[in-house]
Amino acid sequence: MNNAELEKIAYEAGFCRVLFIPAPDFAPHDDEPHIVWNTAEYPWAAVSCLLVWRYSPYPEGCRIPAYYIASNASYHASVALAKRLESEGVRLKRCEVPIKALCAKYRFGTLCRNSLVALPGLGTRVVFQALLLESSPENPFKAEEHFEQDDGLCASCGACAAACPAHAIGDSLDVKKCMRYYMDGADYPDWVYRIQRTHMGCEVCQAVCPRNAHVLPVEPPEDIAGAFELGRLASGDAKQARLLVGKNFTGHGKLSREAVNFLQRDGEK
Ligand code: SF4
Ligand code: SF4
Repeated sequence: MNNAELEKIAYEAGFCRVLFIPAPDFAPHDDEPHIVWNTAEYPWAAVSCLLVWRYSPYPEGCRIPAYYIASNASYHASVALAKRLESEGVRLKRCEVPIKALCAKYRFGTLCRNSLVALPGLGTRVVFQALLLESSPENPFKAEEHFEQDDGLCASCGACAAACPAHAIGDSLDVKKCMRYYMDGADYPDWVYRIQRTHMGCEVCQAVCPRNAHVLPVEPPEDIAGAFELGRLASGDAKQARLLVGKNFTGHGKLSREAVNFLQRDGEK
């Protein structure tokens, strides 16, 4: 199998773009041990294959986390894709790689002021999944070159900094002030509950970003809207919603607690 053949299978699986770049070769970061920073454990890995999944936001005011739903769907698609490739003799490791560091080094996108990666034609409304691939005579995968120029827009824009309800963005992102920083934990600091607008995350800076202007909001499908109905979640029935966004980050009654908080805030208006 080669790059073009893998790309074709990835499109069939629902991904919209596939980027082949060198395997990561960075010093490990102790605070992010789940990320594969280099190939010390996988010396056979020659190529990082980044699988890009696009998604549309939900309309303003909707509390359903479009990103997390896309992230969960793309995760399952990448697991199925990896199994298929392995069954065809491809040696790989499905894992998390340092997307921002790789973007800075291999210039396949733009590193934005809000710390997200914008891809040409797609903006930041994307989820990345990754495979490390071996390159062999049977499967001659190759890294490809990218030369995405930073258009300098972030230097003159600042819309995200003005809109961020947590005041987390100046010239760059102050990570610990951003709500996204707390989303993987079992619970959030009180200040997050006070300003949080969607379940499990925040997409405010993406909503105002001109790089995403072409990605128009869509209404959530009925099954998703039903799963995230606030009364249902607040009563403790979060099973279907957890299936949609993934169980890893939604234990300890998190979605129900968020729903109770949203209802309480709505009642105070
Ligand atoms: S809103 Fe403006 S400053 Fe912020 S990431 Fe988008 S382009 Fe850059
Ligand atoms: S995700 Fe939300 S809290 Fe984080 S920087 Fe963007 S607007 Fe601010």
